[in-house]
Amino acid sequence: GMGGVLRYSAVVLGAGGVGKSALVMRYGKNVFLEQYDPTIEEEYDLTVEYEGKRSRLEIVDTAGVEQFTGINESYIQRGMGFVLVFSLTQEASLRDVDHIRQQIYRIKGGEEDVPIVVVGTKMDLTGEREVSSQQMKELAVEWGLPFYETSAKKGWHVNEVFNHLLARMRKRYPDG
Ligand code: GDP
Ligand code: MG
Repeated sequence: GMGGVLRYSAVVLGAGGVGKSALVMRYGKNVFLEQYDPTIEEEYDLTVEYEGKRSRLEIVDTAGVEQFTGINESYIQRGMGFVLVFSLTQEASLRDVDHIRQQIYRIKGGEEDVPIVVVGTKMDLTGEREVSSQQMKELAVEWGLPFYETSAKKGWHVNEVFNHLLARMRKRYPDG
């Protein structure tokens, strides 16, 4: 607030193995590892410059696979914005995103103004693809949310995801 650098917090949610840690690691540290500890919950505290303004951006990379229990609830209560992650190579993970999306709306209330960006990962694995661009376009309209196709491995469209979320959070929470 008041002349200081505004602070925003984002939570990254999605099924185990879809590439949440790889996505956040690519954005926060610009590296890609072949293996991440699936049990570690990592918090990144970044200073980011976007559209000429500096912000503090805290990103929580969640772990665990218990998506539909109370475990997500405290993350959702505390997050200002959400990155919902599925793998383009695993259609079932898109249904998990749908559940999490509904869970967020139940907890936050008010569909219109919760900052959410939906991310399909592993775009580089073209031969294993199960979710088409057309399917994503239709869901983007149905859900009223932005979708991105990304590759953490190649670094494709990763910054765009977090820039878009930050833009939405700034709009929703102008005072941080
Ligand atoms: P999480 O459980 O959602 O955090 O998933 P991880 O980030 O641990 O990724 C699971 C596996 O998918 C790891 O072996 C990653 O190296 C791999 N992976 C993640 N993102 C990509 C990507 O963009 N391309 C490819 N080819 N593999 C990826
Ligand atoms: Mg992980």
